[in-house]
Amino acid sequence: MTTATLSGACPECETDLTVPPVVQGETLSCPECMLTLRVEDVSDGRLTLETVEVQLRDWGQ
Ligand SMILES: [Zn+2]
Repeated sequence: MTTATLSGACPECETDLTVPPVVQGETLSCPECMLTLRVEDVSDGRLTLETVEVQLRDWGQ
């Protein structure tokens, strides 16, 4: 049986995050500090997250 969610902590503000299943290399946003975090590792339902320096791009939306 697989867990429906994964948990981790924001390396920046240490907020506990619970997210839908993601895979290594995916990015998500911390709801607290709004930083973009990249999933470095997923182990036993626990995420290892690293902040990503986001370069502003024109996404057109
Ligand atoms: Zn944060």
